[in-house]
Amino acid sequence: MTHPAPSSDRPAEAEIELSVVVPVYGEADNIGPLCARLLPLLRRVVTSYEVLFVDDGSPDDTLAAIRRQNVDDPNVVAVSFSRNFGKEVAIAAGLDHARGKAVVIMDADLQHPPETIEAFVEQWRQGYAMVYGQRTDRSGESRVKRGFTHVFYRLFARFGETELPEGAGDFRLIDRRGVQVLKSLGERARFSKGLYAWIGFRATGVPFVVEERAFGTTKWSFRRLFRFAFDGITSFSTVPLRVWTYIGGLVSLGALAAAIWFAFRTLIFGSDVAGYPSLIVSITFFSGIQLLSLGMIGEYVGRIFAEVKRRPLYVVGETVGLSQLAAPLIR
Ligand code: UDP
Ligand code: MG
Repeated sequence: MTHPAPSSDRPAEAEIELSVVVPVYGEADNIGPLCARLLPLLRRVVTSYEVLFVDDGSPDDTLAAIRRQNVDDPNVVAVSFSRNFGKEVAIAAGLDHARGKAVVIMDADLQHPPETIEAFVEQWRQGYAMVYGQRTDRSGESRVKRGFTHVFYRLFARFGETELPEGAGDFRLIDRRGVQVLKSLGERARFSKGLYAWIGFRATGVPFVVEERAFGTTKWSFRRLFRFAFDGITSFSTVPLRVWTYIGGLVSLGALAAAIWFAFRTLIFGSDVAGYPSLIVSITFFSGIQLLSLGMIGEYVGRIFAEVKRRPLYVVGETVGLSQLAAPLIR
């Protein structure tokens, strides 16, 4: 991976104290209110800052709203994707372009209260390289979603090879050292929550209350969330791949035992017309198992395929307030 060349009109990497990376997709109405709360806070709390929006191919006027903010404050800048690449990729692009000694990642919809950043910075100045926001209550979310979230964390704790603090999401501060490491990871099925934990460093949590979404609706359908959770588990664990060996072994042993039992029964009681139901049941059962394990292998093979293609993670269409692209085209 190549390192960004220093741009002429922008401070070089780590000359700004704090970068705030905000992935946005269709958040035109939220840009103004967010900046109104965020900018005064940043001016008060840090010596220098930039607010880096990553426009994830928004269909609405999000970019125009950001341009207006850039006119008032040139520290508000943006990278705009040529299409929607997803929030995870938007965050990766944000980290690529951020120049701060520390980087805060937050949502645009004001669900992540900007005021929490002050506590983040405080902890960072105390020496923590990673400060994550910890949701104290999820009452704003549906029961079903909370249930699934809980199941996911349980599964991850059990099978994942990395520890995830529960309630910690993307809202966090990452020190430059951590950002450099994250930038060097070329994974495509990106599951940032796992990566944040994987890189290590001294970390601490700051509790915050998730606010109501200011404008618009969530962009995460149930299907997308499920896909995300699945990516999370399969990127950080090989258990789903390995477990089929054991299940297959057990099933075969069971089948062997059943065969012996059938043989004895036939010897003692003689044969009736039976055989048909057990045949059907066993055939379907085994086809099911085979399909499942094939599917699992497919998951991983698909992942290898995606890595091997080495496509760039994203394509930048245009920028606001940035004279030069910091991101390498090919990672
Ligand atoms: N987002 C994005 N790309 C997407 C979907 C969402 O950049 O494809 C951004 C969105 O604009 C917001 C953040 O990610 O700033 C969180 O999205 P959202 O509020 O829809 O998710 P939720 O809070 O429901 O998890
Ligand atoms: Mg939200």
